[in-house]
Amino acid sequence: MTASVNSDTSFNIISIGGPVLDGYRYSIPFSVPEKLKPFFRTDEFWFECPDAGEVPESIAVIPAVANLLPFAWVFDCELRVDSIDKTFYEAVPHIKRGYDNMACDLILKGSLAVNRVVDNHCDGEIGSPLSLFSGGVDAWCTLARHSAEKPHLVTVWGADVDCENPSGWKKVDEHSASVSRDYGLSYSYVRSNFRNLINYRILDASPTMTACDYHWWYSLQHGIGIIGLAAPLAYACKAPRIYIASSNTEMDKPYVCASDPTIDNYFAVADCRAFHDGYELTRQDKVDTIVQYAKGIAAQVSLRVCYHVQSGKNCCRCEKCARTIMEILASGGNPREFGFTYTSLQFAILMWRMEHVFRLVYPEFYYDIAAAVRDRGITLPVTARWVLSDDLASVCDNKFKRNWERFHAFGANLYHGMKDRINTNKR
Ligand SMILES: [Zn+2]
Repeated sequence: MTASVNSDTSFNIISIGGPVLDGYRYSIPFSVPEKLKPFFRTDEFWFECPDAGEVPESIAVIPAVANLLPFAWVFDCELRVDSIDKTFYEAVPHIKRGYDNMACDLILKGSLAVNRVVDNHCDGEIGSPLSLFSGGVDAWCTLARHSAEKPHLVTVWGADVDCENPSGWKKVDEHSASVSRDYGLSYSYVRSNFRNLINYRILDASPTMTACDYHWWYSLQHGIGIIGLAAPLAYACKAPRIYIASSNTEMDKPYVCASDPTIDNYFAVADCRAFHDGYELTRQDKVDTIVQYAKGIAAQVSLRVCYHVQSGKNCCRCEKCARTIMEILASGGNPREFGFTYTSLQFAILMWRMEHVFRLVYPEFYYDIAAAVRDRGITLPVTARWVLSDDLASVCDNKFKRNWERFHAFGANLYHGMKDRINTNKR
């Protein structure tokens, strides 16, 4: 029997209905109280993972529960679901404690109400660990560190490429599939509307969110949301672990990030636990690991790091592409052998923009690059030597760059505000 979706929205109840499998797609209806409705574009959560096949309802519902739980905590709601996996259910208070310590400008309340807690276990031989693979520096470093375990790569369609963008996804999918072929690994994808169903512009502009200045996706959703999507596959493949690569390190504190060892390492489902990998490494350490790893293998390491990743390629025009190119140079590697294609002129223009236009909001990355270049006696191209400036802080961030950024943000807000209004009128 499946739970019916509670239609009474006058109470603080988030109600998750029974998952329905149709072909490859699990559809999970949900309802939210009136006050949360502006934050959602739909009342159906869906995910597709052909390689997971059909799994017990108490497992299939986890992707939706994992992505909606933060709403219950932040907006003090009871999240109701008919059945849930016992290991996951018992992990939830620990995950919430991680959130409590992380998102300390919010008072987290709410609760999880379940009719049936189901004890799921995998019989027989355990499978390979899953490794969430975006193709970026963090994910490649985790693959390099755990290559002996032959991890099963999992890429999520709907995380950085829109779940309704097949052409962008095709490139990402081909990239992950070719990496898995080159390295003799299994590969699966999970597609979901877990981001598309949320209106982040309205949510992030809500009084609750503006008061703490957090961003929902980054600060409260992405870790638990992405690991949750891998849970059905982990169960189906009897994976003992789900690796999720770190983005931050201890030295980056204080930060408010939904993916952290204090949260991710408590995520568990059936006989599988998540592991937040590489937290002790800086980004430069990770690039060093990858460049070293590439020297010992025949296959190419092709990084996919770009902010404008909807095209599936590195644009070699954005700050993140530029930063990664510089990190590879500082590791003694050739960026053109790691998935970056650019001419000398394009490189010079990119470096000029880095020095004069882009506000480099994480100067610590550039301090690390400069230290690595100096320590190793690397000779950078002349146009990149701004990173060795004695006053790197003011190269990274200054009045001109701030004004330029404000000017751009103003234009973007105007555009998206008009788009939202047009979409609201259409409904
Ligand atoms: Zn880029």
